[in-house]
Amino acid sequence: MARVVADIISGFGFIDGGNEASLRSALNRYADLIDGWAKSVARRMLTDVAARDERAWMKASQEMGAEIGRIIRHTPVGEVMKSAMAEQVGLIKSLPVKAAERVHNLVIKGQETGARADEIAREIMRTGDVTKARANLIARTEVGRASSMLTMARAEAVGSVGYIWRTSRDSDVRPSHRKMEGRFVAWDEPPELDGMTGHAGALPNCRCYAEPVIPEADL
Ligand SMILES: [Zn+2]
Repeated sequence: MARVVADIISGFGFIDGGNEASLRSALNRYADLIDGWAKSVARRMLTDVAARDERAWMKASQEMGAEIGRIIRHTPVGEVMKSAMAEQVGLIKSLPVKAAERVHNLVIKGQETGARADEIAREIMRTGDVTKARANLIARTEVGRASSMLTMARAEAVGSVGYIWRTSRDSDVRPSHRKMEGRFVAWDEPPELDGMTGHAGALPNCRCYAEPVIPEADL
């Protein structure tokens, strides 16, 4: 997809105020065109995440007893999956639109600052790479977000009010996330870290995970 974006841009040759609008509409048309593809990509990814989540819960629920295992397996996750799906399709389709915005801003910047045309042209041609990097970040973040949403749905179904934040405990863990290791977090109060709000594993490039706290007393 990032390659097609790059191809569309380079197909226009030299981009300036004159043809920038038609490039923008070409990229916006492409965003509409990829609807079906975006849905199938998102569906495949969510199926993977759901299977992994189910396996993790199966393993955990063996220690929790039959009743809790039954509830977890039968938690309706349809709504969670549907909203994760809509979010992902929206993000995927936003990529060509963002690329168009980037080109537009560069052209404006060129006009306003009088930056050299070849510098602007080079920056415009980098849009494909920028789009690819954005796509990778979205993929990584969305896997984490979907899996965190599923974990939360199943945990709440058995009366869990929160989880223990776990990090991957290596040197790549951000200081703000390292501080969260071992802390209790309520499902309805995702913390704010580095200016972003989200649960373990649901923040950009976050490899942390939630260890649900399951009440034992009445089950
Ligand atoms: Zn993290």
